[in-house]
Amino acid sequence: MLSDIVLIGAGQSAAVAARTLRRHGFDGRIEIIGAEPDPPYQRPPLSKEYLESGDPEGLFLLTEPWCAEKDVRLRLGERVSGIDPAAGRVLLASGGSVRADAALIATGARARTLPGITGERVHTLRTKHDADRLREYLRPGARIVVIGAGFIGSEVASTARAKGAEVVLLDALETPLRHVLGAEMGEVCASLHRANGVELRPRETVESVTESSTGIGVLTSGHRWIDADAVVVGTGVELNVDVATASGIEVNGGIVVDECGRTSVPSVFAAGDAASRYHPLFGEHIRGEHFDSASRLATAAANAMLGRHAAAVDPPWFWSDQYGVNLQYTGHAREWDELVIRGSVAELDFCAFYLVGGVVRAAFAADRGGDVMGAKELIACGRAVNPAALRDEDTDLLELTMDGAR
Ligand SMILES: Cc1cc2nc3c(=O)[nH]c(=O)nc-3n(C[C@H](O)[C@H](O)[C@H](O)COP(=O)(O)OP(=O)(O)OC[C@H]3O[C@@H](n4cnc5c(N)ncnc54)[C@H](O)[C@@H]3O)c2cc1C
Repeated sequence: MLSDIVLIGAGQSAAVAARTLRRHGFDGRIEIIGAEPDPPYQRPPLSKEYLESGDPEGLFLLTEPWCAEKDVRLRLGERVSGIDPAAGRVLLASGGSVRADAALIATGARARTLPGITGERVHTLRTKHDADRLREYLRPGARIVVIGAGFIGSEVASTARAKGAEVVLLDALETPLRHVLGAEMGEVCASLHRANGVELRPRETVESVTESSTGIGVLTSGHRWIDADAVVVGTGVELNVDVATASGIEVNGGIVVDECGRTSVPSVFAAGDAASRYHPLFGEHIRGEHFDSASRLATAAANAMLGRHAAAVDPPWFWSDQYGVNLQYTGHAREWDELVIRGSVAELDFCAFYLVGGVVRAAFAADRGGDVMGAKELIACGRAVNPAALRDEDTDLLELTMDGAR
């Protein structure tokens, strides 16, 4: 019988797990221990609405009144150093320990920094504090250099433009997000940046920065010098897996878990960006840095703690908002043999399906949330489809998942 559950990391996954535990009637002690000073909040607005406006309305995932009413203890500004499962204790970095019959490691990730690219005007974006600091520089006419045209770098470029700043976007790849979306869809992202006044420089990275009291100079790998007001490094993340490693839990490109969030150590679970979960649809472990994956795996893990089965088996899904366009991606495809486009790429109103042997494995869409929901069903059913039917706007995508469909 569980009486004490500790959720390590006070972010998306911990908040969802706490809610799930109480929703299913767990009436023992729940303690959330988080390194940041803030109660759990959502990160997606940090590069979008919150970066633009600074309005915290709707940002926080658990409010103080909710925690008080549901008897969830928040221990903030505190790091966990490890878990001693045999003793049933979670160890605090400041000394001491906390009783835990079960624990969830939900420590997420931190923004990757670049060696030597440092200074007051150099930013990364992972926390609310980062967003507050960066917002100060996003003014009309400000010159911002963004390094990395991944989703976060691209969203920062978009928000900076919305605030009237001039943006230079450097990216190591030939086309943005080519490793995820392929060359054709990467080119769509490149065009979106350029159409919105961003100077995109592919195959160009940063060599060094030189900061003064009035600005920051960026020397690029193409031997160009750019005078700027601020630099944003958006080159991915490092996983926070130190708690797992220190506790003898298997880590292999993330904390290894099954579809219910169980780690290699009984009574210890993991969810969120730091977790690499087994995905039965793809027959391999997949790690994502997405709101939806974090929430679903946290829900599954909280259920599993209570002896309930609720596996996270939906295809991965995420969105990104850039320049007023809603981009969505679902599934998982490292390579594909056909890309089928439904709708109009020129009008940024399309869904591109990535097929392997006629089976939809992933989809990427602009302003086509409905098609992406259909794509999720197609990925989940694993049935080969007729590309012409997929392309045909009159086809009901859900019908393609049914027996006898075209
Ligand atoms: C700027 C930004 C924009 C995003 N936009 C989107 C989007 O548009 N769509 C989408 O799908 N996803 C988006 N994401 C991704 C999404 O927010 C993450 O996938 C999600 O927050 C992951 O949740 P998590 O619980 O794993 O970690 P987090 O929410 O990062 O929480 C982890 C917490 O654990 C704390 N911690 C770490 N180590 C310790 C320790 N040892 N002890 C105690 N606490 C610790 C950290 O400080 C942090 O507060 C975005 C992320 C960012 C940063």
